[in-house]
Amino acid sequence: MGKFVYQCVNCLKEYEGDKLLYLCPECNKENKAGEPMKGILKVIYNYESLIGEEGISFEDLKEREFIDILPINSRESLSPLKVGNTPLYKKEDNGTTLYFKYDALNPTFSFKDRASDVVSAVAKEHGIDTIVTASTGNAASSLAGICASQGQKAILFVPAKAPKAKLTQILMYGGVIVPVDGTYDDAFDLTLEAADKYGWYNRNTAYNPFTIEGKKTVSWEIYEQCNGVLPDVIYVPTGDGVIISGVYKGFEDLFMLGIIEAMPLIVAVQAEGSRNLIHNLNREIFEIIPSTTIADSISVDIPRNFFMARDYILHYGGESVIVSDEEILDASVELSKTTGLFAEPAATAAYAGYLKQKKEGHLLPNTNALVLLTGSGLKDISSVEKKAVIPSPVAKNMEALERFLKS
Ligand SMILES: *Cc1c(COP(=O)(O)O)cnc(C)c1O
Ligand SMILES: [Zn+2]
Repeated sequence: MGKFVYQCVNCLKEYEGDKLLYLCPECNKENKAGEPMKGILKVIYNYESLIGEEGISFEDLKEREFIDILPINSRESLSPLKVGNTPLYKKEDNGTTLYFKYDALNPTFSFKDRASDVVSAVAKEHGIDTIVTASTGNAASSLAGICASQGQKAILFVPAKAPKAKLTQILMYGGVIVPVDGTYDDAFDLTLEAADKYGWYNRNTAYNPFTIEGKKTVSWEIYEQCNGVLPDVIYVPTGDGVIISGVYKGFEDLFMLGIIEAMPLIVAVQAEGSRNLIHNLNREIFEIIPSTTIADSISVDIPRNFFMARDYILHYGGESVIVSDEEILDASVELSKTTGLFAEPAATAAYAGYLKQKKEGHLLPNTNALVLLTGSGLKDISSVEKKAVIPSPVAKNMEALERFLKS
């Protein structure tokens, strides 16, 4: 066995890690439009040989900059931008120690940079200079930014109605936008054919197994920033289910290496108007509820990583919470007012999930909880306009000012 093998989450067949693969070739034959993607590949490292006779510690991993559990040969292949290592803030909240992992501070202001960075590095190591992705916005702006830093070309297939800030970012980074007259799903399917025809590398979330390997890096940081004492519960905003799988995978690697003894409790948070992952966790036949939510980054009809995310949640006893758009908006305001952190609605959904569980008495006293804030509030200001009404101009005299201050 080389550094890693790919294992299909559906048929469990393994494939050598020495070539670039997307989906399990066997299960991919059964994939049909309108159903969650089968054949997603999980990357499994040679844990036994890493443990060796002496065992392996977190410090050992860190000393080698985690290269043993990344699908690349050298850190030099990664972006020169500072991806990850985002701040962890701590706050006491009535008997709960609450942590915020603020991933808005990635180079393109979202968690997606963690995946783009690793995918871009893999492309570099394989001599591929053009990367394509379908995206609702953040993955595309992320890939465009990371590729700009690496001298690679990014081609981004987005639904024509993505938030303007995200589209502007893509253009500023020099990415090529292909606005698809259709849904995200249509854009997704088009990239598969285009990548095949033109020899581009495809970063599509979950379809490219290394997106999960990039996203998992957050878990090491949480481990380290909490001094090895993991939070009891971690709230993750969930759309396609790749971030939550990445969080699980990061901890699972540590678990397989004997560095942690138990997995933390992970809670998937979805918007009421787009709850297709949670809704289908225990259903035999996948049922789609068409999505409508202000949290555009977690608005997903068919979660791309459904099978892997479901396996993780069921296997490790994860929980789920559904929050309304109103709860998301209220949580956005409360978060910013009480912490000075401004996050986009998809991210504050996770905080809304925490607030809801706390309010319902679901959290025991003295619990440590962590909320993953996955994107910057400036990415989508129109969603919070209702809560942040800019006042009309005040005449330039003291009476008018006084009236204004009293109103
Ligand atoms: C993509 C994204 C998510 C959800 O991640 P999934 O892997 O689709 O579940 C959450 N928040 C933000 C800001 C995102 O961009
Ligand atoms: Zn398979």
